[in-house]
Amino acid sequence: MIIGKILKNEKIVKFDVKINCANCGKQVPGGLKTGKKYYQTKEFKIEFNEWVKNYLCGICRDKRRVEKN
Ligand SMILES: [Zn+2]
Repeated sequence: MIIGKILKNEKIVKFDVKINCANCGKQVPGGLKTGKKYYQTKEFKIEFNEWVKNYLCGICRDKRRVEKN
């Protein structure tokens, strides 16, 4: 998965985190990629924390989509 920004021709940073679905708590494999520059910024940390907090697994995301329709 890609998080944040990757500029054209930029080096990509790959990292692994444990992510749990914000709804059901299921652990999701968190192989993430972002741009090298962005990875070192405060903005990245903030965005990443928000993203992790609101992360939904595929099943919960599908459920939510169905409920909205
Ligand atoms: Zn879930």
